[in-house]
This record gives sequence, C-alpha cells and structure tokens, in this order.
Amino acid sequence: MITLNYVTELSAGRRGVFDRAAARWDNVINTGFAPIDVDGDVLTGVRIDVMIEDIDGESGVLGQAGPTILRPDTDLPVAGIMQFDDADVANLEAGGSFEDVILHEMAHVLGFGTLWSRKGLIRGTGSMDPRFTGTASIREYAALDAAGGDAVPLSNTGGAGTREGHWRELIFGDELLTGFLSGDDRPLSRLSVAAFEDIGYEVDYARADPFVLPSFRELALMGITEAVRICDLCRVGRPEPVTLDHV
Ligand SMILES: [Zn+2]
Repeated sequence: MITLNYVTELSAGRRGVFDRAAARWDNVINTGFAPIDVDGDVLTGVRIDVMIEDIDGESGVLGQAGPTILRPDTDLPVAGIMQFDDADVANLEAGGSFEDVILHEMAHVLGFGTLWSRKGLIRGTGSMDPRFTGTASIREYAALDAAGGDAVPLSNTGGAGTREGHWRELIFGDELLTGFLSGDDRPLSRLSVAAFEDIGYEVDYARADPFVLPSFRELALMGITEAVRICDLCRVGRPEPVTLDHV
C-alpha cells in the first residue's frame, strides 16, 4: 500500500490529486511487502513524503520525485519523496495537467525509470537508441509492434532525469510515461504495467488503459516534434536512493 505522508499543508483539492494517484498505482501494482522498520516507522508498503512549498517561484525547478530508501531484500522502494514548487503547481493546475503530472511522477517514486539502471535493464545507454530490456516489457512491446525490435525504445533526448527514464516520445506519443505529457488522454498502457513487473512487482494487467501506437500523423496532430520544447517534467530532480542495511 502506498501511504502518503503530507509534510506540508495541502488543500483538500491537492490532497485529492495525490490520493487518486496513489489509489491508481495501488490498483495496478501490489506495493504490499513484509514489514520493515524505517526510522521507527514500521512500513509494509511505500511511504511517500509529499511537500508543496516555495522553492524558486515560477519555472526554474519544478521539484523532485523519486525513491529515497530501498528495501534490502528486493531493492524496491520503501520510502520516497514528491516535492513541488507551489508557484509551478498553480500553473500546472491552471493548465489542467497537474493530475497527470502527479500520476506520472509517482511512477518514478515507485521505480519507473529511476531503478532501471541499477537493475541492469537498459541497453545502449548514452547512444541514440537506448532500449529497455525487461522481458515482460519486451513481450508487451511486441504486441504493440511486432517489427519494433527486440527491446523497448527509451527516450534519447532530455537531461539526466528524462533521457533513458521514459518510453520514447516519438514512438509512444501520449502514453503517460513518455518524457513529455502530450495529447489529452495519457493512457497507462500494458507496456508501462509490464515495466513494473520487470523491476520486481506483482502487477495487474487488467487495470491498464487501452493503447495502440500512434501513427506519424497522429503524433504530429498531438504537437509532438523532435525540436526542443517546453518540458515541465524535465524540471523535476531525482534523489539518489539508499538501500537499507541488513540488520
Ligand atoms: Zn518522468
């Protein structure tokens, strides 16, 4: 179970956004584990410390999201952080993307893109064609595109928190876990569910949204280009997680 620890005061509306995101991921992923003591808290799931506060005003840093403490047995997160700049959150709310940003960033806290390298699941790192090599994801990718190659294309642009931490935007378009929020629907595909199985979670594929690969024309209609553009998600930093020591 994902437990949200609201460190700063949040409005009921903002708490609702985080609560719904946690409920969605708890439906998709089994985050219940053996109890473990973290700083006196006995946790059977993942505790996420949530903060919305002044960081540096509009633009600049949007915040940080990622796992902070990993279980010694599975190397899956037992604690994580989601911290956002109040001024930027107001802009995301005004633009209608706040809910999807939180759903997306919570995936990173649970390990999407943030634990792949340490689990040895990226091939061709640093190249123009990095690929994700998890076997469940490869199976789901083949179901989307039988001729797409033997591993899943990862983002090959953007900074450290974006590149190789998402599905490749020009292939997967409006899918929730590309490096950019595009389109209007942002479906959570079976491919993304598979990526969680590949890092060690039990998952429920029945909870995925319908998804097919967009055509080149559909990508263009979503406004997706190769050019550098405004990227809110690129302004989110990642903590470096530590693994709890075996006692
Ligand atoms: Zn992201």
